[in-house]
Amino acid sequence: GPIVVWLRDDLRLDDNPALALAAETDRPIIPLVVLDEESDGVRSLGGAHKWWLHHSLESFARSLRGKGSELTLRRGKAKNHVLDIVETTGATALFFNRRYDQASRAVDDAVVEALGETVAVERFTANILHDPDKVQTKTGGYYKVYTPFWKNVSETEPRDPVDPPNGLKQPATFPKSDKLDDWGLLPTKPDWSGGMASFWEIGEKAAHERFECFCDDHLQDYDKGRERPFDDATSRMSAHLRWGEISPYRLWHTARAYAERRNTIADKALRTFHQELVWRDFNYHLLHHFGALATKNFNSRFDDFPWRSSASDLKAWQKGLTGYPIVDAGMRQLWETGWMHNRVRMIVGSFLTKDLLIHWREGEAWFWDTLVDGDIASNTAQWQWIGGAGADAQPFFRIFNPITQSEKFDPDGTYIRRFVPELKDLPKKAIHAPWEADSSTLKKAGVELGKTYPKPIIDHSDGRKRALEAYGEVKG
Ligand code: FAD
Repeated sequence: GPIVVWLRDDLRLDDNPALALAAETDRPIIPLVVLDEESDGVRSLGGAHKWWLHHSLESFARSLRGKGSELTLRRGKAKNHVLDIVETTGATALFFNRRYDQASRAVDDAVVEALGETVAVERFTANILHDPDKVQTKTGGYYKVYTPFWKNVSETEPRDPVDPPNGLKQPATFPKSDKLDDWGLLPTKPDWSGGMASFWEIGEKAAHERFECFCDDHLQDYDKGRERPFDDATSRMSAHLRWGEISPYRLWHTARAYAERRNTIADKALRTFHQELVWRDFNYHLLHHFGALATKNFNSRFDDFPWRSSASDLKAWQKGLTGYPIVDAGMRQLWETGWMHNRVRMIVGSFLTKDLLIHWREGEAWFWDTLVDGDIASNTAQWQWIGGAGADAQPFFRIFNPITQSEKFDPDGTYIRRFVPELKDLPKKAIHAPWEADSSTLKKAGVELGKTYPKPIIDHSDGRKRALEAYGEVKG
């Protein structure tokens, strides 16, 4: 009988063990995607997610057709659809790549249990480099701190990527499929996706091409380049990884091969890139072992933290109207492109949770809705971390100063000018903190604070003081 290959966040042909190993059996293959927002605890997709997923599925379906196959689409409870398809096609096996969040794992286990003994199930590790159950501390627990995690996993080289299948054998008939357009994943009125469409090329082929360019141009000084928000010097692989258009194993080994071929790439640059990929793994490790990462403070001391609620401050932050140019530039980059540079994610995260004292969960929710790479493990782990409630050591009292951060990481104001155009004519001395500039400088640049650009919604030193007082209440 045929094999159902149930694809989730792994929309690729290359290094897709479930698909490749199914193809090797020479049996008919039924590639299946179920959009499941109904099973218990499964998170609904954000707006930017849906936009990306539509295009990604379009591209993946095309790739499968190139291999002689068809993608079956279903929407609703995954368990019902998988069982239905196995039954109606007479499939005798189900192959899939593992997922790591609690709700998805529960769905997968329930499917496997319901299939019973008659259907052979094969699960593979494909989307992270190190299976969370296989990495243990010396005492048999899990890691809560990144550096020892890295030390442990860096002793083993990740496996080699698996080549894409040559062809996929067709079953007698493919099951009934939804039409992608009927899912209504694209925004209509208003269509806010224009900025994202010009920023991204979606799909497996585009991911590989972009990565090659990154290796050609930026891998050699990645350890420094990754701290320049104004430069396009990072790989921008996060969204491709989020949807599984490219495999972390492929990235790991391609980067290494480049470094070996071109002796201009320093060990440090390659190592830093590898370490970033492992940060992603570490977040999955945390999520796997602390299933409530998305909803519960990792550090339970924060359960009684006196967070503020202020709808107007939250809104100013979301819209990029806080009066802090670096914060506003980041929030507008996010809105416009569905992505934000890592350094700026930290700055805006610190500003929300510390200067404004708003719960990290609000930031996480906004990112989830607006990021194309919004990822259950990285988004929740990173928001907990920046908000001080997380696993790794980022003590709450380490509060980013948005002005000195801006001066340090966007010294000429290039990034700010790009995303906050109403400040573009300010000289670099004034652009990081326009409220400190003299009136003639502002006037010359056409800036009228409170009119063309907001005054700061909070004074950073007051915000900092308030945050430290709040922290004093829970630090114990
Ligand atoms: P590169 O610098 O090219 O790094 C290569 C890859 O390494 C990335 O694609 C990513 O997969 C991984 N990586 C790099 N930094 C991190 C990190 N700190 N944590 C985990 N993985 C990392 N990343 C997401 O993928 N999804 C999220 O939802 C997400 N939310 C975040 C929220 C906050 C508050 C912060 C501070 C960071 C968040 N990150 C998230 C991590 C990081 O900002 C992005 O992975 C990175 O900016 C993506 O750009 P890139 O692909 O060009 O990264």
